[in-house]
Amino acid sequence: MPTPFAARLDRARARQAQLGVDAVLVSVGPDLPYLTGYEAMPLERLTMLVLPADGDATLVVPRLEAPRVIERPEFTVRPWGETEDPVAVVADLVGSPAHLAIGDRTWAGFVIDLQRALPAATWRRASEVLGPLRAVKDAAEVASLRAAGAAADRVARALQAGEIDLVGRTEAEVSAELGRRLRAEGHRRVNFAIVAAGANAASPHHEPGDRVIAPGEVVLCDFGGTMSDGDGIGYCSDITRCVHLGEPSEEMAEAYAVLLEAQRAAVVAAVVGTPCEEVDATARRIITDAGWGEQFIHRTGHGIGIEEHEDPYIVHGNDTPLAPGHAFSVEPGIYVDGRFGFRLEDIVVAADGGPESLNNADHGLTIL
Ligand code: ZN
Ligand code: ZN
Ligand code: ZN
Repeated sequence: MPTPFAARLDRARARQAQLGVDAVLVSVGPDLPYLTGYEAMPLERLTMLVLPADGDATLVVPRLEAPRVIERPEFTVRPWGETEDPVAVVADLVGSPAHLAIGDRTWAGFVIDLQRALPAATWRRASEVLGPLRAVKDAAEVASLRAAGAAADRVARALQAGEIDLVGRTEAEVSAELGRRLRAEGHRRVNFAIVAAGANAASPHHEPGDRVIAPGEVVLCDFGGTMSDGDGIGYCSDITRCVHLGEPSEEMAEAYAVLLEAQRAAVVAAVVGTPCEEVDATARRIITDAGWGEQFIHRTGHGIGIEEHEDPYIVHGNDTPLAPGHAFSVEPGIYVDGRFGFRLEDIVVAADGGPESLNNADHGLTIL
């Protein structure tokens, strides 16, 4: 089966030519596995892909890491030994080009050393080259995100079916169980598992703690991780569902109904060509018109892929039109300080046939 890496490197080179970037230098972080399938350990030893706009790509790696690299025809591996200077190796491969882009996550120490070794070069962030490419998922990436979403859905459905004990346990205990279930469903890493009960649900990024969950309250669960996939790169899941232990008050039921309508409308609005900020505005209008606007205190969503938060952001001020392959969360919330909070989150992919929701666990407020 052909790997997606050749196409990704070609797209990067085309964008480099457009932007006048002679070479991209990519070190630790998600850009490297995206381009090569290899994830570098965050070591003090330099790993760096040198990608010229019109030349062969070279992956410079510490010799002792080289056995972990799956060699591919798209790049040459250049291991460096313990007594070699890897900065000099990279500078040599770069040669004389004047305009360079360097990975945003590269250790500052290596950036300083490279700038010293290449004093005539100009520097910009590699995200200017790669960000818009990574935001548009290819078919293999959408398939990975779909698998991650389906796995997260299975955990959410277990929660909604009452298979995860809540009353009498602490938020932290429930959080740990959500994490175990994400792993059991194929995630190789748990990125977060927020469990916020009662008034804690009014804090969007609440840290699950010792609070014991009691009957009569809302439990907001927002969890996700990184799935394993065949190419050695993992794609992320991220879902939020709320359950209520017993009948909610009329006010809470009303707030949730508004949230549900806003979330659904924002997903429907996420058609190709619509600016990202319009998806945010769609959810916000409905919540504001119902009188809860002050309680919706964050953007509507974030892009998702190898990273849990990446481009495109679904926020006021981002006029980027949605393109086929953009993958992002739609997660409005209503937070009533000191009392309760709700959020409802799906991952959605923009496609020519209309928005595809990767999360399909029941969207209602589950009453247990
Ligand atoms: Zn968040
Ligand atoms: Zn989330
Ligand atoms: Zn999210």
